[in-house]
Amino acid sequence: MKDKKFFQSKHCRLCHSRELYKIHDFEKIPVGEKYFVNKKFYKNIIQFPMTLYRCSSCYNIQISEVIEPSYLWSNYTYLSGQTKSIDNHFLEFVNNLTYKYKSIIKKDDLVLDIGSNDGSLLKHFKNNNFNVVGVDPALNIVKIANKNRIKTLHGLFDKKIAIKINENFGKAKFITAFNVFAHTNEMKNFIVNVKKLLHHEGVFIFEVQYLGDIIKNKILGTFFHEHMCHYSITSLKNFFKINKMKLIDIERVNIQKGSIIGYVSHINSSFKELSSVNSFIKYEKNKKIYHKKTLFNFFRDINKNKIKLNNLLEKNFVNKPIIGYGAARSGPTLAYNFGLRNKIKYIIDDHFMKTNKYSPLDCVKVLSSRKINKFIDLPIVILAYLHSKKIIKMHQKFISKGGTFILLHPKIKLINYKNYYSFIKK
Ligand SMILES: [Zn+2]
Repeated sequence: MKDKKFFQSKHCRLCHSRELYKIHDFEKIPVGEKYFVNKKFYKNIIQFPMTLYRCSSCYNIQISEVIEPSYLWSNYTYLSGQTKSIDNHFLEFVNNLTYKYKSIIKKDDLVLDIGSNDGSLLKHFKNNNFNVVGVDPALNIVKIANKNRIKTLHGLFDKKIAIKINENFGKAKFITAFNVFAHTNEMKNFIVNVKKLLHHEGVFIFEVQYLGDIIKNKILGTFFHEHMCHYSITSLKNFFKINKMKLIDIERVNIQKGSIIGYVSHINSSFKELSSVNSFIKYEKNKKIYHKKTLFNFFRDINKNKIKLNNLLEKNFVNKPIIGYGAARSGPTLAYNFGLRNKIKYIIDDHFMKTNKYSPLDCVKVLSSRKINKFIDLPIVILAYLHSKKIIKMHQKFISKGGTFILLHPKIKLINYKNYYSFIKK
């Protein structure tokens, strides 16, 4: 692993079965969040293979390649507090949670957030008179959180850090893991550490992308190395059960176009399993969410879209370079799996940690959106697929002057002055 910076996991992360069946080989991609100031650093960017497997025993869907965490999480540029919609989502979540469990909480109870990023979730708990502590593997982000007076420990959520938290802070009434529950190869250890730190009547809450929605909405952009597992409730329920915990409730969230929030307690706690859990399990069975054929069809459809995109570019923009919009984590997955390797000339994005730097995607420069008028004759492909509407709304003037956007998701679509109004109105 030292030289290659990755290895391939040979067993299911949830049930440890070795019966894994290969579903798909993706195009090789770099780690999406590594931006650099000088072109010469591009030589350090590694293109990692990415392979999707299905566990024949518990139906978990996972990426087999595990990138060395120190490489994966260094110079991390994602700040959750930066996106207003995520901040509102966190605020709403904390309000709902404290209401939902008002009978079990009291002032100064501890909340632990795993993968706490810049502390934007814990901030809302702190405002509600909880004691808070976070853990995050990205040192530059931990520094920002501590500066914002959200106590945050630097490191991976492992045994060592769990002991440290137990000694210094005690047991937590709530343990949260938002969009990090799919980020570890060591799921068994992860849940053992959660169990150790969770109060006997406490609740562990995780938010993840939901396999059912990935399949239904054809979300290719969620496949990258940080997302090691793509969960169904069927495989998760089994995972908690074998680890002597119970899944008590599932809620849907719209924020990432297909996320769920799961609630988990100790197996002997007084919490009852709510009907939502069984509804999801029934849905997955009826829709054959984790069946091999469903998964193969997903990638067959992606491939059809790739052909459609390349035909569209060929027809309307022959031999012209492409501009990407959005220096998002999904960028390399989308660009390369849609056949755009070495075809993108610039990426547009206003993120202050990315603008004027070089992207790990083909070493192209990230430009501020103020420069967009330079590209009036070129196709602008939206790589930040979650924000298509917002981006198009922002650039109505550019479109009315003759500019063109191309959407990759939910389907290949060319947006210009003829149809943008009906698109943003929808
Ligand atoms: Zn399994």
